[in-house]
Amino acid sequence: MNRSDREICMGAWDGPESGHGSISPPVFQTSLFAKPSFRSFVEQQAQEDEYFVYSRGTNPTVAFLEERLALLEGGAAAKCFASGMGAISALLTSRLRQGDHVLFVNHVYGPTLELAEHLGGFGIEHSVVTGEAIGADASGIEEHIRANTALIYAESPGTMRMQVLDLAAIARIARRHGIATAVDNTWSTPLFQKPMAAGIDIVVHSLTKYIGGHSDVVGGVVVASKPVVRDLFYKGHQLLGAVMSALEASMVLRGLRTLPVRMAEHQRSAEQVIDFLTTRPEVEAVHHPYHDHRPDEPVVRDQFSGFSGLLSFDLKDGTFDRVARFLDSLSLFRIGVSWGGYESLATSPLRPGNEDDLRAKGFSTGLIRLSVGLEGAENQIDDLERAFDKL
Ligand SMILES: *Cc1c(COP(=O)(O)O)cnc(C)c1O
Repeated sequence: MNRSDREICMGAWDGPESGHGSISPPVFQTSLFAKPSFRSFVEQQAQEDEYFVYSRGTNPTVAFLEERLALLEGGAAAKCFASGMGAISALLTSRLRQGDHVLFVNHVYGPTLELAEHLGGFGIEHSVVTGEAIGADASGIEEHIRANTALIYAESPGTMRMQVLDLAAIARIARRHGIATAVDNTWSTPLFQKPMAAGIDIVVHSLTKYIGGHSDVVGGVVVASKPVVRDLFYKGHQLLGAVMSALEASMVLRGLRTLPVRMAEHQRSAEQVIDFLTTRPEVEAVHHPYHDHRPDEPVVRDQFSGFSGLLSFDLKDGTFDRVARFLDSLSLFRIGVSWGGYESLATSPLRPGNEDDLRAKGFSTGLIRLSVGLEGAENQIDDLERAFDKL
């Protein structure tokens, strides 16, 4: 983790009110910003992305967070949203037109694909390429590119199976075809992977996960060039209205201050948990880049400076009863959605009757996802061991 990233995460408030010595940003709990004259009001309202006019557009507390997230990703600008899906829906609806096609690469977050299905009703096409078909050098995506492909949207590591993509290769292929690229970088956080350095145009995050980090706030962000963010601001943000509030921005900023220390601990514990899982006879396979790749493989060496604590494994003989018995036997790992918080969580995509759907996606019915929290690997392993012993 580099020093400047730590400085950006921990940077004190340096806004115009810093004369009071407040190192935390003030929460600008206001819906509007009054102007000294009608002329300045008219001038500023015409450039609402640049001036504080109305908090559905911009707000100083939110802007402080946006500046930090843009710096961390190495992008020129960022826009925060009320949720990760707020960010993703604003991105897709502002960039895509009737007749366009979007190509999804890897297993992407379920609701992102549901949104793409919904946009089908507005004449926006999509297709998905996953697993082996992508290829280690991403060359498999080429045959899925169409004349009307307007966006290549990837998630890496991917949802549920944590499959790693070669982002530089995807960026090169997309450039050759003149297509914009977007990556959901939620798993890695900007500390462990920087898609823009690999040539990706747009990065999205759910801030609800590691960046918020305390399971007490929901948020999202899009990082991109200034023109892309301006366009997104006027179409996707102002009009759809999934606005992050000043209070939520201040909570995400609080999360950001401890992100470097939390990520180091998530990684340490996850690696110990994985080492333990590989010793268990009940475990068919473990899915996490620490387990699936050697550290000197170029895609890992050049693209990652660390791995987060979200992993999955396949429980042998994954019937609903057995998966339920395992999850119900855990006590430190709580059962729930989401991930990336301080607390360890466990869940499974298995539902009564969806076994064939899971297999079609390339997931085993015994797939169990763990978000390794901050309680310490010894305690986490203890809990898992007890649950395995109850099977
Ligand atoms: C949770 C999540 C999202 C959506 O974020 P919300 O804040 O829940 O709307 C998007 N992508 C990934 C990878 C996620 O895990």
